Amino acid sequence: MKLPRFEYAAPATLAEAIALLAQGNAKALAGGQSLIPTMAFRLAAPALLVDLRRIQGLGEIKITAKAIHIGSRVRWRDIERDARLKSAHPLLVAAIAQVAHYQIRNRGTVGGSLAHADPAAEMPGIAVTCDAEILVAGSSGERIIPAGEFFTGPLSTLLAEDELITEVRLPAWPANRRWGFEELARRRGDFAIAGVAAFYDVDGEGKASNAHIGVIGACTRPHRIAQAEAALNGRAANAAAIQGAARAAEKAVEPPGDLHASSAYRRSLVGTLLERALGGAR
Ligand SMILES: Cc1cc2nc3c(=O)[nH]c(=O)nc-3n(C[C@H](O)[C@H](O)[C@H](O)COP(=O)(O)OP(=O)(O)OC[C@H]3O[C@@H](n4cnc5c(N)ncnc54)[C@H](O)[C@@H]3O)c2cc1C
Repeated sequence: MKLPRFEYAAPATLAEAIALLAQGNAKALAGGQSLIPTMAFRLAAPALLVDLRRIQGLGEIKITAKAIHIGSRVRWRDIERDARLKSAHPLLVAAIAQVAHYQIRNRGTVGGSLAHADPAAEMPGIAVTCDAEILVAGSSGERIIPAGEFFTGPLSTLLAEDELITEVRLPAWPANRRWGFEELARRRGDFAIAGVAAFYDVDGEGKASNAHIGVIGACTRPHRIAQAEAALNGRAANAAAIQGAARAAEKAVEPPGDLHASSAYRRSLVGTLLERALGGAR
């Protein structure tokens, strides 16, 4: 289907982009991998598209002792190709490997995925599971939003119309952390029917601590599962503890049902995927 008519601007600075968005009925354009199909389906018809591609400084990945800073225009391909991230954030790399297909991975961006807020998308799930911070700039200045608060429902976030995501900041990843990522999709590259991201640290007595367990797909927005984390923390991560966490996760989630899977199937899938993620945790 042809796109609805729209004006196009490609400002050179963040300030200009924000000023254009503040005029109203405008949308930022990153890779276009979600926005353009949305417009083709007439689910959005902005009068103006504000292309972010000329704005400097949004396409970098910086790794410091405290955090991994990922610019909003970083593409899936950039993450995949950055050899540093394999040790700096293996969970991120494993999750992003599941995003979409080759062509989409060449254009799709971190900021676009966070702003689009698909409950089944990997990047929002990783941001929430890892307690990331989302840096945002708009007409009234800059703000930092914890990822756990950023997503308010399917395809909705705390972003105001004139705000742009500039960066997502993931806390640094300790070398001895154990982690796993598992998802199920009908075909490789499709959105997940359900997925889980999990990590924990091991204390001096060999017990799991600081467990973070997040879900995608089987939810209306990505979220951590406190009950599953509590079932794992303070215990040796053996088969019994993993089973306990998986059953707690199944009970806690409230998955929607749709054409692809019933609510009951997604619930059971969350437990199975968590067992696999924790069982294979490296
Ligand atoms: C066939 C297909 C399969 C896919 N499979 C997956 C999958 O398995 N997993 C997955 O996670 N994704 C999947 N995607 C989506 C893909 O990952 C997109 O890259 C992602 O949704 C973001 O798109 P984009 O960067 O091109 O942003 P755009 O499409 O350009 O923008 C998306 C939305 O974000 C807004 N936006 C963009 N950048 C910013 C910014 N910096 N600040 C504020 N708002 C911004 C736009 O205004 C728009 O509302 C799939 C897409 C397709 C077409």
